[in-house]
Amino acid sequence: MAFKISDECIACGSCESECPNEAISPGDGIYVIDPDKCTECVGFYDTQQCLDVCPVEAPGPDPDRRETREQLLEKFARLHPGKTPVL
Ligand code: SF4
Ligand code: SF4
Repeated sequence: MAFKISDECIACGSCESECPNEAISPGDGIYVIDPDKCTECVGFYDTQQCLDVCPVEAPGPDPDRRETREQLLEKFARLHPGKTPVL
């Protein structure tokens, strides 16, 4: 399931450079995640990097974007052609 940033976001910007898929960008007052690029960090890490660095735990799973691990790996493959997932 793609992650989403809640209204708790204080727009510190810490998460933007941590996303391996460049899925995070500044939005209207808070940062936002492009769900078409978020793999929950599947393929790169075993924890979600945006949540790990966030001081207010604003990123979390989006219940409207439920995806299986297989679907997330397919997204990884689409975003990173030829790259082998490490996790
Ligand atoms: S969970 Fe991972 S892939 Fe998704 S936005 Fe956060 S850092 Fe990026
Ligand atoms: S690290 Fe947290 S508070 Fe900072 S921009 Fe990202 S979601 Fe917002």
